[in-house]
Amino acid sequence: MKPRPTIRKATTHVNQNEGLIFEKSSAGKAAWRLPPLDVPEVDTAKLLGSAERKDLGHMPEVSEIEIIRHFTRMSTWNYAIDLGMYPLGSCTMKYNPRVNEVVSRLDGLANGHPYQPERVSQGALRILKTLSDCLIEITGMDAITLQPAAGAHGEFTGLLLVRAHHQSKGHARKKILIPDSAHGTNPATAATVGYAVENLKSNSQGMVDVAALASQMNEDVAALMLTNPNTLGVFEQEIHKIADIMHAKGGLLYMDGANMNALVGKVRPGDFGVDLMHLNLHKTFSTPHGGGGPGSGPVAVKKILEPYLPTPVVITKPDGALGFEYTRPQSVGRVRAFYGNFGMFVRALAYTLANGPDGLRQTTEDAVLNANYIRKGLEGAYDLPYATPSMHEVVFSDKLQAKKGVKTMDIAKRLIDYGFHPYTTAFPLIVPGALMIEPTESESKEEMDLFIDAMKSIAEEVEEDPEMVLAAPHTTRVSRLDEVAAARKPVLRWKPS
Ligand SMILES: *Cc1c(COP(=O)(O)O)cnc(C)c1O
Repeated sequence: MKPRPTIRKATTHVNQNEGLIFEKSSAGKAAWRLPPLDVPEVDTAKLLGSAERKDLGHMPEVSEIEIIRHFTRMSTWNYAIDLGMYPLGSCTMKYNPRVNEVVSRLDGLANGHPYQPERVSQGALRILKTLSDCLIEITGMDAITLQPAAGAHGEFTGLLLVRAHHQSKGHARKKILIPDSAHGTNPATAATVGYAVENLKSNSQGMVDVAALASQMNEDVAALMLTNPNTLGVFEQEIHKIADIMHAKGGLLYMDGANMNALVGKVRPGDFGVDLMHLNLHKTFSTPHGGGGPGSGPVAVKKILEPYLPTPVVITKPDGALGFEYTRPQSVGRVRAFYGNFGMFVRALAYTLANGPDGLRQTTEDAVLNANYIRKGLEGAYDLPYATPSMHEVVFSDKLQAKKGVKTMDIAKRLIDYGFHPYTTAFPLIVPGALMIEPTESESKEEMDLFIDAMKSIAEEVEEDPEMVLAAPHTTRVSRLDEVAAARKPVLRWKPS
C-alpha cells in the first residue's frame, strides 16, 4: 500500500500562552513608547470637559510583542486561498492576483469620491466604461449595468428588467421556470420579485429536460432562469433549443452566469440565445470573495432590455467626455447607492487586461482541465452520479462511503485535517450526499495531486476506521461546531470569566 500523504495542518502554532488578549493584560504594560513632550502640556480636562474618560474599563495592557503575536496567531486560524487549495464548488475560489490590489489602491482610484464632479472623475468613468465594454464583449450581449452588489442582487435586478419588459407589452406574466439543479438564490430571487416559481426537472444526463420545458412553457411564464454550465458542472447541450422554446412563446432566457469561469473566451451566452445574465465578478474575475471583500454582480442584456437598465448609465457625451445619464424614463431605477462597488470594478478590469483575450481563454481551458484531472483522479474512489462530461467543476456523491455511515459532511471535515478547505457539501440538491469540487485554474498539478491523495486516503480510512473519520477534524483548534447556532446566535462579545 502506498504510504498515506502526510497531514498538512490547516492551522498552525498552538501555544500554551495564547488565550485572549484581554486575559493577558497586566497593569503598566504598554505596546508603545513616545518621545518626551516637546510642546506645552494641554489641560485635557479643560479640552475634553465631560467627554474625558479616566477609567479605561477593561482595555488590555500588553506589550508590543504580545499584541503582535496575538493578531498574527489569529490570522493563522483561518483558512485562505493564499494558504492552499480552496475547492469550494460553485464559488470559483481562484487566486486573487496581487496586481489587482496594487491597482485598486492607487490614490486617485481609492480616494475618489462619488460626489466628485464628472469632469474630475474621467479616469473613474473610463474604468466603468472600459470594464463594461470588456464584459459586453465577453458575454456577447449589448448593454450592461455594473450596479448590483452580488450575484443574487444581479438576479434580482435582472428579474426587475424581465418584469418591466413584460409590463411594457401589457401582460405582466406570473411565473419563472427554474431547473431543480439551480442555486438556491434563483428561486429566492424570483419569489422576492413577486413571481411564482415552477420547478423544471433535469433528465438523466443532468441537463434540462427539453420535452418537459416545452410542455411547461406557456404565455404565463416570464422567463427561464438557467445556470450554464449548470451546478453539476454540465454544459446545457441543447441551449439553442431551450432558447427557441422560450422565445416562441414570448418568454425570456435568463442565464445565471456565476459559472462563467467555464466559458469565458470560448463561447458567448449572447450567441446562444440568452437575453440577460448576471456575472459574478467576485468569482470569474478573481477579486476577493467570501470574507475577503464586497461582491459585484453586473447584469448584461440584449438590446430589447436596455431601456430598463438601472440609472445612472455611463455615456459618451457629444464632446467625447464620459458622463452619467440619469433620465431614462423606462428605467427600473437605482438598485445600489452611487455606481456599485467601484473597487471591485478596478480589480476585475486589472484581471481582464492583465490576462488579455488569449489569457482569459487559457484560464477557462485550465479551469476545465483541472476539474477533469480531479474527476479522473477520484473516479472509483467516489461515486460519480452523472457520467456527462464535466466543465469547470465535478460533482461526486458519498454513496460508497454512506454504506459505512460516513457522509459528505464527515469527509469534508476530515479533509480539513489534510490542510484543505472543504469542497461544497450537499449541493446541488439533485445529488444526494454531493461532494462538489471546483479547483479553478489557480491550482498546480502538484497541489491537485496532494488533494487527490488526501481524498483517496480518506476513502481508505472510511473502509478501515469510519469512527475516526466521523470524529474529524482532529487537528483544528475546535472540532465540530454547531454551524446553525454559530450563524443564528453568534457570540460577538468577550466577557470576563
Ligand atoms: C454564487 C452563486 C450565486 C450567488 O452569488 P452571490 O454573489 O453569492 O449572491 C448564484 N448562482 C450560482 C450558480 C452561484 O454559484
